[in-house]
Amino acid sequence: MPRTFAKKASTFLARDGIVLYDNPAAFLICAFKHDNALCEPDPGATAPRQYDCRPGCGNTVRTDSHARLLRERANELDQLASRAPDPVSKRLRVNANRLRETADIHDATAHPTEALT
Ligand code: SF4
Repeated sequence: MPRTFAKKASTFLARDGIVLYDNPAAFLICAFKHDNALCEPDPGATAPRQYDCRPGCGNTVRTDSHARLLRERANELDQLASRAPDPVSKRLRVNANRLRETADIHDATAHPTEALT
């Protein structure tokens, strides 16, 4: 990845005055646009309710690093599932698979760095 990538990506995503919010707990960057936000910010709010970040929001931006972290977390959940009783184990595996699906969607739809230049 070129050293200038972060600056180019930031400039690209900040076009039209969009403000970016890092949301590591959800493995994403929020390119906040109030009208698209699924986390239901208050009317006139200038920031998302990141603690209530929801899957499928159109403001979501992920990098390859986020996809890698999603898969790492999925593997951790699978390890926990292997030691958990049945109902909990099943739920952990469902969550792990959901994280992997999100990473797969990123891989299938990601734009290369060159698209930002
Ligand atoms: S749901 Fe998540 S990605 Fe969407 S606006 Fe809220 S914090 Fe940002």
